[in-house]
Amino acid sequence: LAAKAGAVGALIRSVGTGAYRLAHTGAMAYEDATPKIPFAAVSAEDADLLHRLLAGGKQAVNVRMKMGCEKLPDQPSSNVVGEIPGTELPSEIVLLAAHLDSWDLGTGAIDDGAGCAIMLEAARLIRAAGGARRTIRVVLFMNEEQGTSGGRAYTERHRAEMDKHVAAIEADEGGARPLGFSLVGDEPALGMLRAITAPLETIRAQAVTQAHFAGADITGLQVSGVPSIGLSNDMTNYFDWHHTAADTVDKLDREELALSVAAVTVVAQGLADAKHTLPRTPAASRELPSWAR
Ligand SMILES: [Zn+2]
Repeated sequence: LAAKAGAVGALIRSVGTGAYRLAHTGAMAYEDATPKIPFAAVSAEDADLLHRLLAGGKQAVNVRMKMGCEKLPDQPSSNVVGEIPGTELPSEIVLLAAHLDSWDLGTGAIDDGAGCAIMLEAARLIRAAGGARRTIRVVLFMNEEQGTSGGRAYTERHRAEMDKHVAAIEADEGGARPLGFSLVGDEPALGMLRAITAPLETIRAQAVTQAHFAGADITGLQVSGVPSIGLSNDMTNYFDWHHTAADTVDKLDREELALSVAAVTVVAQGLADAKHTLPRTPAASRELPSWAR
């Protein structure tokens, strides 16, 4: 839009909280027909400073953009998939999702190393307890951050198997204290999931809320009607750190991660052992919100 209006460059206020004057990176795209002008994020504090200077109206405000980033050609990469075959219904799948890639500013500890750790540990616990009636499939997706090509490749490759996916659960909210789960769907799916999460009241993670989106990696499953569930974490500090140089492992808390593992384990095993699967998501509820398309 800025290029169309004749701009030579554009700045966006960081999509994050104004903490520590850190700029947050993130995805952007150019339209084919529009000039590819430089585009950068500034920290919230610096955006405020620019606004104050501009509001004063007394002086010219100049910004010099010096950027070292470049877009390199795509390279082959892979999702990482592992599963615990179901003991009675091995063709039916409960999918546990997180993503392996991160932005290069930080190490990706909260986005989404925490989610990968939660899903791997939940699967390990289920296996240690003798497995489940249905298959538990852990998929650590590649390329969530720059177009979800890992998620799209999975949906494409497993299209014939979509009906066999009885649920998909994604952990991608940073791994702080678990608050419960979001579910794309209506009653009676919400009620069935609430029955499964009831024991999580002891760690105050039993809440089930209705949502239009459960996780970027599993949107292909969502629109295919697979009941899609997101682990909800306390995101109070998440946007201080996500997509910045501060996304490092010191932000993770062992106890909080363990609570998330407990929450996912209860739900994954509950769904994999349940007599009846959740109903498929009604067509009207499958549609993604516009920002996630
Ligand atoms: Zn993420």
